[in-house]
Amino acid sequence: MIEPEKPAPPAPLKVTCPDCGHVRVPPRDVRLVVVSAPGASYYTFACPDCGQRVRREATKDVAGALLARRVPAVRTVG
Ligand SMILES: [Zn+2]
Repeated sequence: MIEPEKPAPPAPLKVTCPDCGHVRVPPRDVRLVVVSAPGASYYTFACPDCGQRVRREATKDVAGALLARRVPAVRTVG
């Protein structure tokens, strides 16, 4: 029997909490929201240190990097 190849566990993303500074969260705990209006896209995550939900602007570069790391993304018309 051939085992399917297991994907490597995703490396944590380095993100910034306004209170804790740089923290690491797994990609599945980050949510990218792509808004059609320029400059309105953002991503959110729950800080693993203080627990607050952080929301930060996702520039085109950031959004691309997050998508490349397989962060779940939703698209909205804004
Ligand atoms: Zn924090």
